[in-house]
Amino acid sequence: MNKRKVKDKLIGMLAKNRTYIQIGFGIVIYMIVSFYQISLWWVVGFGSVIGIIWGKVFCRWMCPIGIMMEFMMKISPDDSLKNMYQYHKIGCPIAWISGFLNKVSFYRIRVNHDTCKDCGLCDDVCYMPAIENQKFSLYKPGMVNPGDDYSCSKCLLCVAKCPNGSLSYKPAIPSLKMENKF
Ligand code: SF4
Ligand code: SF4
Repeated sequence: MNKRKVKDKLIGMLAKNRTYIQIGFGIVIYMIVSFYQISLWWVVGFGSVIGIIWGKVFCRWMCPIGIMMEFMMKISPDDSLKNMYQYHKIGCPIAWISGFLNKVSFYRIRVNHDTCKDCGLCDDVCYMPAIENQKFSLYKPGMVNPGDDYSCSKCLLCVAKCPNGSLSYKPAIPSLKMENKF
């Protein structure tokens, strides 16, 4: 198996098991914070430091409150819990800081136009192009890369979905520009 296939398989496995990974991290973080009576500001600091490296990963990979909200939303018969989740995100300093860091983080989601087949599968799995298809696209030149936007929580579904390995989540030179530049 070549290096690219190994990487694709790993990303696919991570994206598929994100919920379980978040449950695991969430329990560990909750136990450490409550057992050692750690100030929540340390958690904010931790979420921000990892945000510098990977962007907004805390919310969808580690946050104990985030995973509880996701479950509640799944079982909710109406939109009330969805709205509650939005309020939670608006009020969370980790979401603010790491969301901003999506624009400057070391790891970024990038497309390789030499291998991209313009199939659009990546945009189909991302909720941002679904909401604003005139603004966001992971592969269309000149459009805003949703991976650099505040709202991207690095679910990695887009990378896992690409059939050619044209999307990657890898170290990139920081830039404050929001548009794709290739
Ligand atoms: S990682 Fe970000 S850009 Fe990719 S599908 Fe998830 S939210 Fe969208
Ligand atoms: S899924 Fe891959 S090949 Fe298809 S448009 Fe997106 S980046 Fe290109």
